[in-house]
Amino acid sequence: METTLLAPEKDPMGAAIADYFNLHKAEKLRVFSSQFDEDEIPVKDLFRTSKLMPLLERTALKLATGRILDVGAGSGCHALALQEQGKEVCAIDISPLAVEVMQKRGVNNARLVNLFDEQFVDTFDTILMLMNGSGIIGRLEHMPVFFQKMKQLLSPGGCILMDSSDLRYLFEDEDGSFLINLAADYYGEIDFQMQYKAIKGDSFDWLYIDFQTLSLYAAECGFKAELIKEGKHYDYLAKLTVE
Ligand code: SAH
Repeated sequence: METTLLAPEKDPMGAAIADYFNLHKAEKLRVFSSQFDEDEIPVKDLFRTSKLMPLLERTALKLATGRILDVGAGSGCHALALQEQGKEVCAIDISPLAVEVMQKRGVNNARLVNLFDEQFVDTFDTILMLMNGSGIIGRLEHMPVFFQKMKQLLSPGGCILMDSSDLRYLFEDEDGSFLINLAADYYGEIDFQMQYKAIKGDSFDWLYIDFQTLSLYAAECGFKAELIKEGKHYDYLAKLTVE
């Protein structure tokens, strides 16, 4: 499990966020994966306002109460929306460039911290993990470490609100049957690498998880998973609480 921060010369998304904030435009944020064709993240989407957020995200913002932790907060779009509703939020990210932009945009408590850093000790009533927030867990084998960390950070009665997608549709055949190789790694374990201008980041693991698999791991780690809402395309919002 990585517990470090990003160096600015290895932080393409942070550089894209900084450009968009400073120049009101950005170039292509390119995404590579050994499993998929090259793709692109529209940088302006990272600055989405509540109105432009998908229903799953708006639902999560509505449900978030008490002291809120926004994990991997990026440009601070969710943190700012929560602050506007008068809610108290701490936004963390491993990108120094993103954290600087959050502070300049008015996020009151934006911190340069890796979620998995042992030194990161605090208590929250709601932990938000949005925009395929399960991704930060990286791989299924990290689930016990992840839930252990969540137990340390959650106040009694607190919850995690996380969105993810079931990537099974990528393996669905035209006749509706599935071609998932059960002997292979879990199909939601993806490797990504990003590039912005000449800045290329290191490759990293990103976990997409279906609700059933999430529930199984949660139960093994002493948590209960509840399906709050399903999106339009195999995506969903889950609430996780200590059992
Ligand atoms: N939540 C934002 C950004 C999503 S991109 C949004 O919805 O727009 C994921 C973010 O998570 C990136 O900014 C990345 O730097 C950050 N991140 C990745 N691993 C992290 C970790 N271990 N701890 C904290 N932040 C992390």
